[in-house]
Amino acid sequence: MNAQSQSVAYKTLHTRDDQTCMSTELGELDLVDSEYEGFMGNYGETLDYWYQRGAIVVWRVQDQIMFDFDLNRNQSMQAFTALIQQPGNEGRVAEIVQQAGAFLFSDYRHPNAADWASIAGIGAYISHPELAFSLLERCSIRAMTLAYVAPLKRLQDVYGVDWCERLLQKWATNAKDARTQLPALELADFLQRADENALDRRLCRVVIDDGINAYIHDDTMTASTSATSAARRNAALPTRLKTCSHIARACAWLNDSALTDAWVAHVKTHPLLYPALELAQLLMQLQTQGVDRNKSGSAVLLQYVEPHLRDECNRGLREPGDWSISASAACRCQYCTTAMQFVHSPTEAERIWPLAAVHRSHVMSQLRDLDLPLHFEERKQGSPHKLVMTKDQQLYPQATRRYEQVKVCYAALRAMS
Ligand SMILES: [Zn+2]
Repeated sequence: MNAQSQSVAYKTLHTRDDQTCMSTELGELDLVDSEYEGFMGNYGETLDYWYQRGAIVVWRVQDQIMFDFDLNRNQSMQAFTALIQQPGNEGRVAEIVQQAGAFLFSDYRHPNAADWASIAGIGAYISHPELAFSLLERCSIRAMTLAYVAPLKRLQDVYGVDWCERLLQKWATNAKDARTQLPALELADFLQRADENALDRRLCRVVIDDGINAYIHDDTMTASTSATSAARRNAALPTRLKTCSHIARACAWLNDSALTDAWVAHVKTHPLLYPALELAQLLMQLQTQGVDRNKSGSAVLLQYVEPHLRDECNRGLREPGDWSISASAACRCQYCTTAMQFVHSPTEAERIWPLAAVHRSHVMSQLRDLDLPLHFEERKQGSPHKLVMTKDQQLYPQATRRYEQVKVCYAALRAMS
């Protein structure tokens, strides 16, 4: 009740810090008692003052369950899960669900696997579609793990596919709030588990659809925000290819051309994220694993990578004495321009450059972002000190290895098509 005798929802109530921590000056408090020890000789006198403060917290009887879960969740949950082990407690369980509401979860947006399993179990037990929906609707689809699958199947058995599809769609809507978050599960692993549990394809579709769109969104952010940092982009390449493989297998499984086309179009428009050689190697791997070429979108992507590899073959291998590195810097300042002249130079393998500290670190950070085969050393001699830039000795051997890979890959692609 508030001061106007109207009842107030607990959740809307707020306690200020100065209401829970004592902020009153000591002198203004009512003294209850004092103890004085007197002079003790070898240590100082002790004087204790005793004050007393109290607060009474009152809540309604019907809110007891909610506070049990809020204040003592583990124990309440244990007692609750014991209830659903026996048939015949449906009414009581539904009552508890109604009263505890969101307090049943420790973190309802991202319930951990154990939380989810027990709460989904409760949802299935009550056999009450609306109440179960209101209990389970708050989760996010991106928080799903493989442990979600079996309890979902149980819900599918109790409430049907339509109900479950509506639930997952609600979870997908919830996930849109956290736009940068990626799915917690690997898509192809999810589908395998879903198959084992006989989860309906329509439910899988909702999960895969959200997952693919989340990856497309995340890639697009990566491409736009870290355009200058090839280092970061390259470091994430193995993970990106692994995800790409999962998505291709998921597309083959779902056989939904709209979804596959969206993914393929995305890969084709982001060559920096999906370089032709690495993509071609992945596509060949999928082929060996027997993933359907047309359903997975691999057929279109194979057509897309082939001319890229052909062009690289036709360009041939670089000359052994050629030290040029192709790259373009994002920064156009005079120092970066000078540095890039060195990077592009076919004859220069090392440059010793007297340069002030602030410009040395600027040039180094810009070049490191480009992830080039370059080494830096700051030589603290003379004034100003010197920046020594050296091109990697592996430049030619690495180019040779890559050229061989491109040739092999191109020949394999031609043999396949
Ligand atoms: Zn610059």
